Amino acid sequence: MAKINDNYLKLKAGYLFPEIGRRVRAFTEANPSAKVIRLGIGDVTRPLAPAVLKAFHDAVDDLGTTDHFAGYGPEQGYDWLINVIIENSYTPLGVSLSTSEMFISDGSKCDCANILDIFAMDNIVAIGDPVYPVYNDTNVMIGRTGEADDKGYYKGIVYLPCNEANGFIPALPTEKVDIIYLCFPNNPTGVVASKAELKKWVDYANANDAVIFFDAAYEAFITDPSIPHSIYEIEGAKKCAIEFRSFSKTAGFTGVRCGLVVVPEEVMGTMADGEKYSFNKLWNRRVSTKFNGASYPVQRAAAAVYSEEGWKQTKEIIDYYMENARLIREGLTEVGVTIFGGVNAPYIWLKTPGGMTSWEFFDKLLNECNVVGTPGSGFGPSGEGYFRLSAFGHRENVIEAVERIKKNLK
Ligand SMILES: *Cc1c(COP(=O)(O)O)cnc(C)c1O
Repeated sequence: MAKINDNYLKLKAGYLFPEIGRRVRAFTEANPSAKVIRLGIGDVTRPLAPAVLKAFHDAVDDLGTTDHFAGYGPEQGYDWLINVIIENSYTPLGVSLSTSEMFISDGSKCDCANILDIFAMDNIVAIGDPVYPVYNDTNVMIGRTGEADDKGYYKGIVYLPCNEANGFIPALPTEKVDIIYLCFPNNPTGVVASKAELKKWVDYANANDAVIFFDAAYEAFITDPSIPHSIYEIEGAKKCAIEFRSFSKTAGFTGVRCGLVVVPEEVMGTMADGEKYSFNKLWNRRVSTKFNGASYPVQRAAAAVYSEEGWKQTKEIIDYYMENARLIREGLTEVGVTIFGGVNAPYIWLKTPGGMTSWEFFDKLLNECNVVGTPGSGFGPSGEGYFRLSAFGHRENVIEAVERIKKNLK
């Protein structure tokens, strides 16, 4: 009989969002007239920018004509998209990339998972805590770990706790690691890293021949001009970092699906004989074999994000979410809640009042304010005692939720 990949059995049953759903359902069944407001989910709510939608439609029409029909495109993505991203999103940062260093995909979650294909199993991996669960769970799935302990830490992974004491920016590992996941602006904490902080990581990686996986899914939400949007703004990063970006949060593509990976030519790993080999070559090989490119209309729509009109409209949507973030941040601060994030990221990470656990605060907010958020402990043990609110809601719901919470906590 065919054997299963029993690494999957090490995973804790997807607990966080099903449990949230269960508690919300139980509440709404008991209180059918309550108007529940959801500030929990990390999904966008605004429609696509009109200029992006038009490009998407036009590209679909292309597919219906003999002259403009598009079949298989390059597995790495169309040059016209890659070049427009480099020109608009990297060149202004002083980062120069060549077309062959960028790979377009159908989203960043897949990229963050698939990148593990080109790294040997005996690499030591360091992951922040709390964290976007994909980094941890994909390492469990491919068999890099043992079982989880009582806390939820898997044997074989180096966890880097992020807490109030370190400003939710992890300290360098005390042992030597080979792969480091960093996500800034961070999901779930909404915290950003300065150039000086990222420089420490780049220096560590170069000194230890490690590779940084830099998840920049939320870079478009940065408002502080001193905060880096790309790890390549840091000297030395092109030798040690792979960067992930996504159109999901930037341009409302969570349902459309488009992301990208940057693998600079200089990022090297070692072969069994100790000689160096380029990860760019390996990733190109992987993409060519296992992927057939993101869909043509999707790539046309993504390119339109960078048109003058497209970017102006997209930026207005980002500003809308960031105004929501400001309303949440300022409203909760007024009633004495300790807040992190929400300035350069669409997430507000709050310290639960009165020392409540994350789930106790979840129940209080649901039962007394009819507002749904996300318990911090669901993102890792160091998230206990914290709670995530998302700024991706509709304005009137955000205003009402903040009013309810303020009244309750006053
Ligand atoms: C939303 C998100 C992504 C993007 O995922 P897609 O697959 O591109 O939709 C990547 N990383 C983090 C941390 C996210 O929150």
